[in-house]
This record gives sequence, structure tokens and C-alpha cells, in this order.
Amino acid sequence: MPVAALFRDDFYLKTAEATVTAVHEDGGIELDRTCFYATSGGQPGDTGHLERADGSRIQLGQTRHGASKDIIIHVPLDGQPQPFVGERLKLAIDWDRRHRLMRMHTACHLLSVVCPHPITGAAVGEDDSRVDFDMSETIDKDAVTAELMALVNADHPVYLQWITDEELAANPGIVKSKNVRPPVGLGRVSLVCIGDNSSVDSQPCGGTHVARTGEIGAIHIAKIEKKGKENRRFRIRFGEAPAEI
Ligand SMILES: [Zn+2]
Repeated sequence: MPVAALFRDDFYLKTAEATVTAVHEDGGIELDRTCFYATSGGQPGDTGHLERADGSRIQLGQTRHGASKDIIIHVPLDGQPQPFVGERLKLAIDWDRRHRLMRMHTACHLLSVVCPHPITGAAVGEDDSRVDFDMSETIDKDAVTAELMALVNADHPVYLQWITDEELAANPGIVKSKNVRPPVGLGRVSLVCIGDNSSVDSQPCGGTHVARTGEIGAIHIAKIEKKGKENRRFRIRFGEAPAEI
């Protein structure tokens, strides 16, 4: 059953209340509305818990999409109690983890500005993220870090603009990913814009992002790996670059 994905309109929504609409044989739970982001576009789904009327909790190990993008399955950890269809629950995401993912995810957008090559893959993580680019030249990681931190420190606004699937289809040039498909299929697509009037970047993306680049904090490029002749894998980590020995 299609879900109201509350996180799409508010990335900072940490809690909500919802009604159980389905419980699958494997334990997966569907709700009528949710603040839990489901794994997609290289960003892992949320963890957290569902609180029952008696105060007991159902701990969730992951959140993923069902057969289509408008279905979200909340997956409990092993041995958790099962709710019943129609039950009202209080939802709470693991905010510390999600916020790290939002900071990292936004950093990946900035990296695509500093390194303007087609993206062939990306995986956002809590401690470490990677972005693969279709490029053949060698690039200095410390120079990339300095450019990234200039964008972070400029504290640019990050906001969404909505366009229709048709508008996106008419403007294929705005998609930077070569084989990560933009989040089409819901009728409208969110463009993640960075900087006033998208002065820094705009890119279709269905993930969650921080509101200003300054919120990302210190990050650095830990490694640039050569993965084939025309592929470079960048690893982003939190904190300042460790001093070279
Ligand atoms: Zn994004």
C-alpha cells in the first residue's frame, strides 16, 4: 500500500505517529505514513524504533522499498514483537546516524561539483562514503579536500525544487549519474539545489540532505583509488585529513 513519505518534505523529521497497514510473513511492517528513509540512491535506509501504546518498542534494523518506490518496508531486528494491522505506533528514527548520513550524502554532492565527471556509482556510509567517477586523469586528494572544505565553509543553502518526470526527461543534461537512475516514477522528481539560485549545483536526487553546507563539518578525501583505466573511486571521511608521516 502506498505510504506517505514524510521525510521527503522534511529531512529533519525525527518522530511521527502512524498506523500499521500490513505485516508481512517475514516480519516487514508497512505503515500509512513514515519518517523512515528507505534504502535507495546509494543512501542506506534508517534504523530506529516503533513504540507501542504500552511503551514497549520494536527495534528496526533497516528500512527498504517494497516492489515499488511508493512502498516502504520497516524491517525489525530478529526476535522483536510483531504489531497488528490497525495498531497505532510512535515512530522514532536513529537521528544521530541519519544526521551523519545526511552530512555525508550532501558532501557527495559537493564532491561532484569539485570533480565534474560522470558518476558511475556511489555509496553513502556513516563513517566513510565512496563516489566513483568516469575519469582518467590523476587528481591530488589534498587539493580536492581544500576545494570541498571551501564549499563547506561558505555555508551555502541546500534546498529542494520539484520538477515533473516529463521536465526531467526533456532536460537529460541535468543528470550527472551515468548508471544511478534519478528518482523517477512518482510523477515528480526532487532537484537538490546548492547555493542561492542553484549557483553551486543542482542534481536530481531522492536522498536526504542537510540544510546548509556548513552543517557537514570537517571532511576530507582519504583516498583516490584507480579502478580501471577510466574509473576513479574517491573515499570521503569525516574529520580533518590525518597528517602525512
Ligand atoms: Zn542527494
